[in-house]
Amino acid sequence: MPTYSVNAVNVASFPLGETDKVVTVFSAERGLIKCVAKGARKPGSKIGGRADLLNVNKLLLASGRTFEIISQAETLETFPQLRGDLERLSYSLYYAELTSIFGQGLNEEASDYFDFLVISLRFQSLSESDPAYLCLMFELRLLDILGYMPELTVCVNCRTVLSDHAISGFHYELGGMVCERCHLEGKRVRVGPRVAEAEGIYETPGVERLDKYVTPLVWKRLVLAAAGRDVPNAQKESDVIKQATRAAHRAIAGYIEHRAGRRIKSLELLNYSETSQITN
Ligand SMILES: [Zn+2]
Repeated sequence: MPTYSVNAVNVASFPLGETDKVVTVFSAERGLIKCVAKGARKPGSKIGGRADLLNVNKLLLASGRTFEIISQAETLETFPQLRGDLERLSYSLYYAELTSIFGQGLNEEASDYFDFLVISLRFQSLSESDPAYLCLMFELRLLDILGYMPELTVCVNCRTVLSDHAISGFHYELGGMVCERCHLEGKRVRVGPRVAEAEGIYETPGVERLDKYVTPLVWKRLVLAAAGRDVPNAQKESDVIKQATRAAHRAIAGYIEHRAGRRIKSLELLNYSETSQITN
């Protein structure tokens, strides 16, 4: 059987048969690969720990019919600090789930994305920065790589430059922030074409429905994170800023779910750990 070697992060898994496990990995060499870790669920199995989510391994793979077969695994990195911090672990599992969902679209830049994912997990594991802010930067960078970067600095409908006083919210279908004027005009159009014509608002069609209202503070977190700037030290930040960062993350997570066309399971764990983090 032909074999080949890859460096890969474990991003998803499910049990197979009595003692095996199917592990989806994202590799630097070939992007997403589904492989079988034989005997991984046997107590004391050598491969068991290496098949855990988020671990980075050097794998020797044999080509199989449905799945590749792991014939050797050597641990490269395990991020032990993540295992003791529910919030950071939850964000990291979210990174893994996003990778398993969008990974096929990343195969062409597999090597760059692999490096980005490992560095992002390392940051989440070791840095003092607010984990929600790190996650927001990860989400926006991922959207950028996939070609789904949302419009954040000008209104996605009328292209007016946005400011504190002129933002309304996030529109998932249009893919970005909508200004207050477009949103109000969209609402007014509902009163009927005659009123709309009288007010001269038919030239720029408005946007009635918003998927998420966004406050100026939340919008600023989005713009900062998109620029990849100002990574804050979690200890020095006020609760108001932390809440705003989490709201910004939730707006983007909603947009990502819209793009994915499905629910993202790890967000449920995240909602729980974010709430406990704020009240602690
Ligand atoms: Zn507008």
